[in-house]
Order: sequence, then structure tokens, then C-alpha cells
Amino acid sequence: MIILVLNSGSSSIKYQLFDMGERKVLASGLLEQIGEPTSRLAHRTCIGRDTMEEFASAEPVADHDEGFQKIVATFEATGPIRDAGELTGIGHRVVHGGAEFQEPTLIDDQVIARIREQSALAPLHNPANLAGIEVALARSPDIPQVAVFDTAFHQTIPPHAYSYALPQEVCAEHQIRRYGFHGTSHIYVAKEAATYLHRPVESLNLISLHLGNGASVTAIEGGRSVDTSMGMSPLEGLIMGTRCGDIDPTIVFYLARKTGWSNDRIESLLNKESGLEGMCGSNDMREVERLAESGDAQARLAIDAYCYRIRKYIGMYTAVLGGVDALLFTAGIGENSFTIRAGCCQGLEPLGVTLDTGRNESPGTGVREIQSEESAVKVLVVPTNEELEIAEETLVCINAGTPVGE
Ligand code: ADP
Repeated sequence: MIILVLNSGSSSIKYQLFDMGERKVLASGLLEQIGEPTSRLAHRTCIGRDTMEEFASAEPVADHDEGFQKIVATFEATGPIRDAGELTGIGHRVVHGGAEFQEPTLIDDQVIARIREQSALAPLHNPANLAGIEVALARSPDIPQVAVFDTAFHQTIPPHAYSYALPQEVCAEHQIRRYGFHGTSHIYVAKEAATYLHRPVESLNLISLHLGNGASVTAIEGGRSVDTSMGMSPLEGLIMGTRCGDIDPTIVFYLARKTGWSNDRIESLLNKESGLEGMCGSNDMREVERLAESGDAQARLAIDAYCYRIRKYIGMYTAVLGGVDALLFTAGIGENSFTIRAGCCQGLEPLGVTLDTGRNESPGTGVREIQSEESAVKVLVVPTNEELEIAEETLVCINAGTPVGE
């Protein structure tokens, strides 16, 4: 059972090929700068357990169609599969499924049309995801293909948590509500934590902190998302690499009036020039930490604000859940930065959260505990694997045999 996972961006295709019997990566890669003369492919074939064979190419790739063919040709040339026909299925990451898609869904022409309808909600992401789906389906029509949505896991959030306090007829007409994102990561780490704790996920209350370039926090009750910090778009919530997270919406109108900047200019400011980048000039947390340690006051402020925002959400979601079994840290920052983990848990003793400094600062792999002996709440570092989750959901959907989510 071999599953290809594709994550198509506007000018890139990221991919991983899995042998699902062993939950093992056979190959992975990234094709970038599609449509530019400078396109490049970085591909890795995994040989044995820890050995990789790397392959790079720098030929121009005109579009996603050529890109898909190049990726398949690279598999065939480098060995993990000899023919695209060996694929059991292809799983496509789709950012926005709106309220339309609650589960992974087998793709056909109707599903493509329905995903396209959700594009107004995610104009930067869904059209690019669709470009990958359409070429893969055109080139490999006999291979079952599944759309796995970042929003689907959050479809269990109740109305009082997903509704914005705007005129409800306006919300209904324009599909305005909280959708939430990073769903595949939040559910993956929740299941991994449950396995680690030897408890059914249905019996656990979890707060999952996905802290990467994008960042979000989810309250998970019995394996179901009941609230999450990202909203109608990935802009709401935590401070991120370049996104501002929660702000007073008046700032947008005030800026427009004061500066004459267009909607697009301000949208770009909030999405691409804010967050850590806007506060201290770098969106790379390693650099921000280095600057703060060397005495840079803006970097120190950025870290303080970053951790403060997360502590506020942990407090809110503790109230939402009425008690928490475990806090989960994941993604680039959550898995690697003990400084940020410590900052996020600082002063949370009244909520039953106390870290063990030695455990927190010890490097490690796999799921690990970092709370102190007296902490009522477990604090776990859980490496995420969104591609594996997409591959598993793809296989389940294919095995179920009929289109789900309709
Ligand atoms: P995404 O997948 O959203 O692009 P990642 O999950 O890879 O992002 O996370 C990227 C972030 O993780 C960057 O801010 C990077 O600086 C941070 N990061 C990675 N390793 C470390 C580390 N050792 N210490 C602090 N931050 C780290």
C-alpha cells in the first residue's frame, strides 16, 4: 500500500511517498519556483532505515502539470516505485473545506467544483491546492485521490464558539464563521499523546499548541476539537512568524484612513510583515532568541508578547475544557525551543502546570514528558507529522470505498 501525499502551493509542490504497511517514508521532496526559469527539485529517496539518497535538479518547470510529471518520473528513475500504477492512492492537502467538508473526501469532478466554491474563503491557498489535484487526476485518472482538509477536524466546534457576533444574516450569506486550521496536525498529536499516555483519546482533555511559522492552539475534548485560535482565516489567534494574530479590527480602518493604503496593502501588512517579523525584524525563532539573548529589547518584547498570548489561550481553553489532562507542544518552535516552552508555562502553577527545567531542556526525539513530578497537568512534546496523517486519512477514505463527507 503506497500513498503519495501532495501539498501544492502556488509555485511549489511538496510531496512524500509512504509505504503504509510500515508507516515509512520511501521518498520526499520539494519542487519550487514552478513557472520560473530557476525551478529546482530537491528529492530524497530513503534507503534502509537512516540512509537517504539525495537528488537535485535545476531545469525549468513550466507549470503544475509538468511538475507532477517530473515528480513521478523522479520516483521511477530513483527507484521507490517503477510505475505510477503502483500507487494505492494520492492524498491532497486542501487548506479550506469551509463548512462543506467535514471529513476526507474521495475526489471527483463534483468534489473539485465544491472545493472551488470554497476558494473565496482561501484565495491564497485553495486555487493552488486545486492546481495539484487537477493535474494529478488528469495524469492518473485510475488512482483514487482524496482531499484532506486543514479545516475538517474543527467542524465539531459548537456554534457558540464558531460564531462571530456580527449580524447573523451577513454571516450566513458570506459564510463568515470560525473554521480553524492545522487540523491534521492537532488530531495527529492528540492521537500520539493518547498512545503515549496509554489512554483512549476519547477520555482525554487536551490543549494542543502547534507552534511553527503559522501557529494555532486547539482545545480538544475527547478527541474532538471544541475551540481553536485561528478563525475564518489563519490570521486570527496567536502571534506567528509574520502574522499578527488577534488585533482590534479598528486598526485596519484607522490605518486605511490615516495612510490611504489599500485593502490589499493592509492585508499584506497583517499577514506578511507582522508577527515576530514585524516586532523585531526576524520571523525565525532561533534568530529572535539569539537577538534577545544578546540584549535586543525588541526581540525580548517579541518573545514576551508571543508567550503571553499563548498563556492567555491556555487559560481560556482550560476554562473551555473545565480541566486539562495534557498540554501538547508541537511543530518547529514547540518541538525545539525549550525557552519558548518555559515562557508559555510560566506562572501557570495555579492551573496545575509546572515544568521540570531539566526535562524541558534535555534534547530528545519522539514523544516526551517535560512536566515536574507535582504537576497535575502533563506537558508533552509531541513531534507532528501532517503528511503521515494525510496518508493515513487517505487510506481510510479509499478503504471505505465510497465518497465520505457528502
Ligand atoms: P512551518 O512548517 O509552519 O513552515 P515549522 O514547523 O518548520 O514551520 O517551524 C518553523 C519555526 O520553527 C521557525 O520559526 C524556526 O525558527 C523554528 N525553529 C526550528 N528549530 C528551532 C530551534 N531549535 N529553536 C527555536 N526555534 C526553532
